Amino acid sequence: MTDVLEPVSQENAEPFLRNHFKGSLLGPGDAAYDEVRAVWNGMHDRRPSLIARCTGAADVSVALRYATASGRAVTVRGGGHNVAGTSVADDAVMIDLSLMNGVDVDPGTETARAQGGCLLRDVDAATLAHGLACPAGVVSHTGLGGLALGGGYGWLARKWGLTCDHLLAAEVVLADGTVVEATEDDHAGLLWGLRGGGGNLGVVTRFTLRLRPVGPVHHHTGVFPLDTAVAALAGYREFAEKQGVDLHAVATLKRAGHHDWIPRRLRGLPALFLTATWFGDPAEGPARTAPLFAAAAPDATLTRVMSFAELQALGDHGEPHGNRYYTKSCYLTDLTEGPIAQLLDSTREIESPLSAIDFEYLRGAISDVADEDSAFPRRDAPYICTVSAQWTDPAEDPAHAEWSRRGVARLAEWHYGGAYVNYLQDERPGKVAEVYGTARYERLAALKHRYDPDNVLAGNQNIPPAAHPHG
Ligand SMILES: Cc1cc2nc3c(=O)[nH]c(=O)nc-3n(C[C@H](O)[C@H](O)[C@H](O)COP(=O)(O)OP(=O)(O)OC[C@H]3O[C@@H](n4cnc5c(N)ncnc54)[C@H](O)[C@@H]3O)c2cc1C
Repeated sequence: MTDVLEPVSQENAEPFLRNHFKGSLLGPGDAAYDEVRAVWNGMHDRRPSLIARCTGAADVSVALRYATASGRAVTVRGGGHNVAGTSVADDAVMIDLSLMNGVDVDPGTETARAQGGCLLRDVDAATLAHGLACPAGVVSHTGLGGLALGGGYGWLARKWGLTCDHLLAAEVVLADGTVVEATEDDHAGLLWGLRGGGGNLGVVTRFTLRLRPVGPVHHHTGVFPLDTAVAALAGYREFAEKQGVDLHAVATLKRAGHHDWIPRRLRGLPALFLTATWFGDPAEGPARTAPLFAAAAPDATLTRVMSFAELQALGDHGEPHGNRYYTKSCYLTDLTEGPIAQLLDSTREIESPLSAIDFEYLRGAISDVADEDSAFPRRDAPYICTVSAQWTDPAEDPAHAEWSRRGVARLAEWHYGGAYVNYLQDERPGKVAEVYGTARYERLAALKHRYDPDNVLAGNQNIPPAAHPHG
């Protein structure tokens, strides 16, 4: 922990900031202000009073103490990808970590130390040079910070677990500006809370991550018109639920794009895409993935062996910065005829060619981690489903948001309960408590009470501080 910090009063807040902050400070009117305040979801056009572009933990500490002394709200920006736009707020101080993107890899111990503002591709670029990766998300321009602290589902989640399951230690700037290292031995409760509790407990300036060996993968996608989708999805269920952890299968419902491999008759129409990715020996891939397509014949398939780096960037172009997004998500108990019918109804109602419904069977290593070992809830959830609207014209906001809301609401009978904290957007009060469940929420609120008693870090899916009801 740092030495006792000098007190900062409201009167000396400005000189304190100017004298101690090493990075750059941006305000309205500065050339780069609009570029840096912009976040991935174009729905959130917000204007912070100050953007503090930090160069390290010391800068984060100064910015936090300045904000508190001057009575300003705080947001923390990692990759800026949160769909709810929690990293930017009007009149707040934005603690921008995006310049802090260095990664050190130790191939001997299969670990990496990644700064708090890394994008997933920064981490991959450093680790893949050693044939290693930290399991993370499926779009390489997503921020490590928000993704890892909320959980982190991705291609390798069934095989190795979530990103937060790979968090071995963290350098954290607490709300009062002190810097601590959270490990299994020191601040172990804090480390527990960082594994799924979101950005509530502190600003992580360095993640120490466990890495896993990776290599080329066999990737097999099939496209189906909606009239064969019921049979194909029943086949998906049968296939996905009995696979070992080297096989990951995903389903997407959206309008088919204008790619060479898609038959012309399907282009522009609502369609089902099933994808199987095999992480074992690529030579075995065709035999391992083909049974996904046994229940119904796809109209076309695309089969490739690709490097792990290519796989990690596959989703990069489908969800570009600046478009408008509205996402609802839920866990599902099963994928029987009832939810399939509802999902297909939503697909027929898709208005934007950019919107999509994604769902996948989870379990595997995700549910192998003991429930009490991390703040991440609902490890046993069988399926996760997101109904993601994407469009460009602000005049269409209400229609697309309503499509997304309706898509999840009509699945209510099969909701598993809770939700994935990183996919929350525009939720009713009480949703965050529901995400974690009572015991876990109370434990997180107690940690918040210890590490951020004044709720300085409130620009997130917030868990207000509360003393533990049981002492
Ligand atoms: C295109 C896209 C693809 C995605 N794919 C996946 C996926 O495959 N798997 C998955 O699990 N999720 C995925 N997500 C969701 C993603 O996990 C969340 O949007 C997450 O919040 C993004 O993190 P960020 O750092 O980019 O976000 P930001 O908007 O920068 O931050 C969000 C919040 O995280 C906190 N935060 C960020 N960095 C830090 C830090 N260093 N210390 C403390 N708090 C911090 C803050 O509270 C902040 O408000 C995806 C999102 C998008 C937009």
